[in-house]
Amino acid sequence: MQQRYCQCGAAFLVAYLPGGPGLLRAHIVAANQAGIHTVHRCPCCGQPVDINSLR
Ligand SMILES: [Zn+2]
Repeated sequence: MQQRYCQCGAAFLVAYLPGGPGLLRAHIVAANQAGIHTVHRCPCCGQPVDINSLR
């Protein structure tokens, strides 16, 4: 997994998960007390997060 950061500084992980036969899809995941879950918006600043906009 790779670590990426939102523009606000929040840290995410990029996980490559099976998305079909021979496919790996990039999922942006955040970890908290409840476990690891896929996020589409930054829980910190509310901006949409995607693999190309994170740094
Ligand atoms: Zn953010």
